[in-house]
Amino acid sequence: MESLKYHRILLKLSGEALGGDVGSGIDPKRALDIASRVKDVREMGVDVAIVIGAGNLWRGKVGLTSGMDRATADYMGMLATVMNGLALMDALESLGVMTRVQSAIEMRSVAEPYIRRRAIRHLEKGRVVIFGGGTGNPYFSTDTAAALRAMEIDADVLIKATKVDGVYDSDPVKNPKAVKFDQLTYIDTINRRLEVMDSTAITLCMENKLPILVLNLWDAKALHDVLVGKKAGTLVTA
Ligand code: UDP
Repeated sequence: MESLKYHRILLKLSGEALGGDVGSGIDPKRALDIASRVKDVREMGVDVAIVIGAGNLWRGKVGLTSGMDRATADYMGMLATVMNGLALMDALESLGVMTRVQSAIEMRSVAEPYIRRRAIRHLEKGRVVIFGGGTGNPYFSTDTAAALRAMEIDADVLIKATKVDGVYDSDPVKNPKAVKFDQLTYIDTINRRLEVMDSTAITLCMENKLPILVLNLWDAKALHDVLVGKKAGTLVTA
């Protein structure tokens, strides 16, 4: 087995990753694609916890624009992350990867409640743990939930999986001259308003010295490379 740089990771997936070509709804084929990436990582001997967003189904902001109560709209978003978590669990288990979903909002008939020490025990037993329900609080994001859970389970790194291969100085889809950063500091990402994660999440990582790696989810080599200590994506540290 190759020697690992990171033994325990928290993988943050946006809901759109599950949403097929248009980025909305749940595409079971996409869930399987993601699951096979996760399976590869598990087979390297890495402990894997996942936080998944819900942008493919619902975002609190959508409700806000049509006059909904913010907290209610956010709770809807948190519930949607559990649906995504179940879809991903189903795909992982169909590939033989033992998985548990824990939810920050209690719904015992579909998911375990979030219990930190139990989550760690699952990881130690080689199970993938998916954290649904975000932080359990409105006004937060699943990026912040990812930073929080990463710290709680003592992850070595938070891997933010995106559609592009790292952080750029402008949108590489719109600007072909956009420049990619190999490394950044937390403060740089906040001051330059780079779209790594929201500022609450970055601040939490900064205060607790948790490295963030921004990677292309669909680039299996990049994911493998960073886990064995090779350079890929963008690393955000102090
Ligand atoms: N959300 C929340 N609290 C949390 C996490 C999520 O209120 O701790 C709600 C919020 O409305 C958010 C939605 O859930 O818009 C979906 O999460 P997010 O936008 O982070 O998903 P992603 O962009 O990663 O798909």
